[in-house]
This record gives sequence, C-alpha cells and structure tokens, in this order.
Amino acid sequence: MIPIIKPTMDEAEAEAARRVILSGWVTQGPEVAAFETEFATFTGAPHAAAVSNCTTALHLALLAAGVKPGDEVVTVSHSYIATANSVAYCGAIPVFVDIDPATYNIDPNLIERALSAKTSAILVVHQMGLPCDMAAVVDIAKTKGLPVIEDAACASGSEILWNGQWEKVGKVHGDVACFSFHPRKIMSTGDGGMLTTKHADWAAKFKLLRQHGMSVPDTVRHGSAQVIFETHPVLGYNYRMTDIQAAVGREQLKRLPGTVAHRRALADRYAELLGEAQWLSLVREPSYARTNWQSFCVRLPDSADQRTVMQAMLDAGVATRRGIMCAHREDVYASQPLRMSLPESEAAQDHAIVLPLYPQMTDEEQQKVTSTLIGATRPKIHSPKLQRWNLRPLPIEASLIVSE
Ligand SMILES: *Cc1c(COP(=O)(O)O)cnc(C)c1O
Repeated sequence: MIPIIKPTMDEAEAEAARRVILSGWVTQGPEVAAFETEFATFTGAPHAAAVSNCTTALHLALLAAGVKPGDEVVTVSHSYIATANSVAYCGAIPVFVDIDPATYNIDPNLIERALSAKTSAILVVHQMGLPCDMAAVVDIAKTKGLPVIEDAACASGSEILWNGQWEKVGKVHGDVACFSFHPRKIMSTGDGGMLTTKHADWAAKFKLLRQHGMSVPDTVRHGSAQVIFETHPVLGYNYRMTDIQAAVGREQLKRLPGTVAHRRALADRYAELLGEAQWLSLVREPSYARTNWQSFCVRLPDSADQRTVMQAMLDAGVATRRGIMCAHREDVYASQPLRMSLPESEAAQDHAIVLPLYPQMTDEEQQKVTSTLIGATRPKIHSPKLQRWNLRPLPIEASLIVSE
C-alpha cells in the first residue's frame, strides 16, 4: 500500500526527545525558546511564539488583531475547518470568499465584495502549501486599514516573491502567520504550532495568553532566588507547546530545506508522468509563489466520479484523499447565510484529489500512482468525430450518436 504521507523522523528526533525527558524540564521552557529563535531565523520573522497547534495559533492571532464578538472576518470556506472555527472562537462570523480554481487559494478580486462595516480582519490560507497572492491581499487590506492573518498551517518552507526577492512564508507579509506541526504537515512535532509576527506587542500577547494569562512565566519563577507570586491580569488559555515537542521540532526544522527540495523534485516528476493525461488539471505555480508541495492536488474531469476513482486507486494499493473540504457545507456552518455563492470552492472539493507524496517515495511508486490514476480517469472515447473515423462496424448506440 502506498500511503498518502510518511513522517520523516529518525534517531535524531528520538534522541532530542530523550535528552529533554532526562533533563528534568519537560514543559514549555528552554527548548521552546530555542525553537522559536530558530524558526524566526529560518523565516526571517522578527518574532515567533510556539503554541500547542495551529488552531490555537489562529485563535491567538485573531485575538491580537482585535477580533471581537459580532465582528466579521473575511476568509475562505475551502480550507480545513479549523480556519473558520478559529473565527467562531472569537464570537465573530467567518465571511466566505470563493477561490481561484487555478491555485485553490482565495480570489483577491472577490475580497472587496465581502467587506462590511463589521469586518475586522482578513484571514487568508496558503492552501496545500502554495502561497496565496499576498501582494494583492495586502494592497486591499492597507486601503481598508485591516490586519491580515496568514493561515500558513501547510506552508512551512514555502516562498513568496516580495519586492523582487524570494522570501519565506512567515517573514510576515501580513501581520501574523500561523503554522501547524501536525503529522499530516511537512514538519511535525506530533502536534504543535507557531506564530510569527512583525509586531513585538503581539508576540508578547501570544506569550501571555498561551500560558493562562499569567504575569510571570514558569521559567522565571523557577530560576528566581526570590519568592514570586504570579497574577492573572487577563483571560488566558493553556495553549503551550512542551519542551519535548520543541526539541523534536528543532530537528525537523533542520531537515526542512532538504524536505522541501525533495518534494519539489517529486512534484516535478509527477507533472512529467501525468503530462500525457490532458484531462487532468495540475497546479502550476504562479510567478509569485514557490510551494513546498505539502499536498499534490489533481483536478479530475467533471465527468469522473471522485469516490469511484479514489476507490479504484485504493483497490490498486494507492491511498488518496479528496479535495479540500468546504466549511460552509458542514453542519456547524450550514445555517449561516452566505454573502456570495462559492461555486469554485464546491467544485474543488468535489472534483480534486490529493496524491501520495513523501520523501521516501521511489520512482516505481510514483509510476504506480500515476498509471493507476490515468487508468481510472481516462475518458471513454465516444465522441462522434472519432467514431466517424472508426472503420469497424459501429454498434447501434454509437451509430445513433454519429447521426446526430
Ligand atoms: C492542518 C490545518 C489547520 C489546523 O492545524 P492544527 O495544527 O491541526 O490545529 C489549520 N488550517 C489549515 C489550512 C490546515 O491545513
């Protein structure tokens, strides 16, 4: 069986976890601080704060952006449901904008139509690792004075062309970027998340809120020769990352450039192997984006049934996943009125599938995936034009088609 993804972890990660376990300090402490510094250096961001996962990162980002009950946040429905949920946690309403089917990312041309007097932030997603058109989004946000939050859950190691330079996602092209280290993502700490921001006061807020809103971090109390009584000036949360996770994350971060390069080579090979299958649409990188190929997504022809294709591939030993879900079609958001229809989001969910991609993948495995996919989706030829050139006697049904 060819799985959808395999984590890349070995003795280095195991040894890092062991070192922390035997150190006597396992929760948020020196390893988390070191991981934050290294992640900030990697992305080029001025500030980073580690948290328990990307969903909690998004919640804190929206709180720092000032999103409050009754507000509206413009975002996409076509995303993992955590994107919309983080808005709902603030008591705000996610206002869904459709995607550009070529990139599966927010269509910036539709954003202005979604804005209202209640809009307090724009929450974009770099879907499947491909950066969205941040320059266009930031232009709109600037004219309206709105903060931009990047859901970069899938985009560790992806790059954006910014003022003529390639920069890492998370250098912070909006106000704050949120990353995930769930095992389904390109680097993992089991579970985990990271915020990067250009605002020093937002970073301080993340560090306060992730630890119960407590005025004094554990590490400071622990290291103090004086007795310190902590206070809780604001409502906080327990959104901490542990030092065990952070130590694993530091090893994963060292691997990240290699992982991205390897995935990009595998994606090129997929594109080559699928080149003959004109009926399948692949994602092509726009001029402003370099993806980490967190997910390799293929759009099936509208005539193909997604579930049938996925089942045929599973029967042949190839795991796939359906396209990204739409939050507005889930019961939890179904009763919320839509400000605009979302045909491209829905079509992407219904007609796209994600192929296996992991660094250990062999060329034989890639060939098996593509030949199975091509076999399962090749259109049946019943075009009248082709039939006309067929020299064999036509079956009754076919001759009816020809005579139309
Ligand atoms: C995975 C994912 C999340 C949630 O990340 P967690 O770390 O599991 O909370 C949020 N948004 C997007 C786009 C994702 O892909």
